[in-house]
Amino acid sequence: MEKLKNYINGILTTPYSNNYLNNYDPSTGEVFTMIPDSGEQDVQLAVESAEKAFPKWSLFSAEQRADHIYRIAELLKRDLEKFAIAESMDNGKPVWLAKAVDIPRAVKNLEFFASAITQFSSESHHTGNVLINYTLRQPVGLVGAISPWNLPLYLFTWKIAPALAAGNCVIAKPSEVTPLTAYMFSELCIEAGLPEGVLNIIHGPGKTAGLAIVSHPKIKTITFTGGTKTGEEIAKIAAPKFKKLSLELGGKNPNIIFADCDFDKMLESTVNSSFRNQGEICLCGSRIFVEKSIFEKFKSAFAERVSKLRVGDPHKDDTDLGAIVSKQHFEKILYYIDLAGKEGGKILCGGKRVIPEGRCKNGWFIEPTVIEGLKYDCRTNQEEIFGPVVTITPFETEEEVMIMANSTEYGLASIIWTENLTRAHKLSSEIKSGIVWINCWMERDLRTPFGGVKNSGVGREGGVEALRFFTEAKNVCLKLS
Ligand code: NDP
Repeated sequence: MEKLKNYINGILTTPYSNNYLNNYDPSTGEVFTMIPDSGEQDVQLAVESAEKAFPKWSLFSAEQRADHIYRIAELLKRDLEKFAIAESMDNGKPVWLAKAVDIPRAVKNLEFFASAITQFSSESHHTGNVLINYTLRQPVGLVGAISPWNLPLYLFTWKIAPALAAGNCVIAKPSEVTPLTAYMFSELCIEAGLPEGVLNIIHGPGKTAGLAIVSHPKIKTITFTGGTKTGEEIAKIAAPKFKKLSLELGGKNPNIIFADCDFDKMLESTVNSSFRNQGEICLCGSRIFVEKSIFEKFKSAFAERVSKLRVGDPHKDDTDLGAIVSKQHFEKILYYIDLAGKEGGKILCGGKRVIPEGRCKNGWFIEPTVIEGLKYDCRTNQEEIFGPVVTITPFETEEEVMIMANSTEYGLASIIWTENLTRAHKLSSEIKSGIVWINCWMERDLRTPFGGVKNSGVGREGGVEALRFFTEAKNVCLKLS
């Protein structure tokens, strides 16, 4: 069985412990590769190699760094098909989805930040003929980047591309649950001739390898995407050491549907925003609020559409929902479906495990599930499930729906469906989330700030925000004689 390797100092290396962990294909429940069980010693080696590489890499011109990143993007485009299949095997998502979204977006992340860094400028402020202040933006040094399993290469590159473009050296850890495409990415970096030590990729569990990155005294900047609980643990370690932190955390996003919306467009998009990627996207709208006058119409149309979604083998082109990423997560989702019943919810459709015929019979699949009749403040409606489960709740007034929408500890994204522009603007300003989509979902312009409020995170990534995060401002004040 293939053993993945760490990428340290420009070469693929075995873990210091020489121990490996099982990596499962969630669509079959079988182990298909082994992952390095890395820890402190591996992170130490990565830090030493990044430290050696930093002075030279940070002094490259923006164009030189951009050229390196463009080269990797080119190779990723060449291998798109191979990467999409690997992403699907690791994560359980349909291959067509990885081919259409995950890998092309990873390419875009690289290309976008390679281009953005060449446009990133310093500021200067003049005071008559007396003073000139100019602000240098210098790389922060060594960056620790930790990413989750739901959009593995997509979110991995979202972090490392701006960090590298800005002149930093990076020690990155993908989720232990989905390490494969990050490993293949390290092979591309070698092929592309990325200077040794500039990017180091460590595989292993969050509790050991991740923790070692967060705790290392030489890594002063941490970018993390993952669960809110993990974000809290990271902040506890990083804050007293005054590390720079960007935390992109969980969500429990409201999808608010008014009677005056374009019903067909809304319905199409709501099926996607509920169940795309098995509902394992932090931006999915898992709490659907529907204006009372169209609640019954919505309910039957939505349930009809959802019950037609096909769950099964990720390799098939007509599969809508693939496997749930791991057995542990599969059990967590089933626990919440059970809890919803205990809290008085009625399952409109779905609610059960799916056992496909053939090669996927031992995989972890769950029907797309729609639940009604729950109070907005019950646990099912307050806690992040992160799977193919949505609730639907009627509302009568804007005030009422705002109370319900804003009631959770999260504030990542929200969706509003209405043709009334005044209302759309008013609610967008009142809603407590970092991102608002009006009459659409998941439209992403990489120049825009991305991130959440409340327990959904700290800071913003994307566009100039990311380049600012990965650089330190140094103001120089010159008095003119
Ligand atoms: P986790 O928080 O469990 O893990 C995220 C990453 O952190 C993984 O690489 C994990 O490693 C690592 N990790 C775990 N514990 C520690 C630790 N103590 N110190 C350092 N690193 C650690 O999240 P999931 O992977 O389960 O991802 C799902 C979560 O991510 C959901 O809550 C979702 O909402 C959120 N998310 C947020 C997004 C956003 O942009 N706001 C986007 C996508 C997802 P390992 O897996 O090896 O244990």
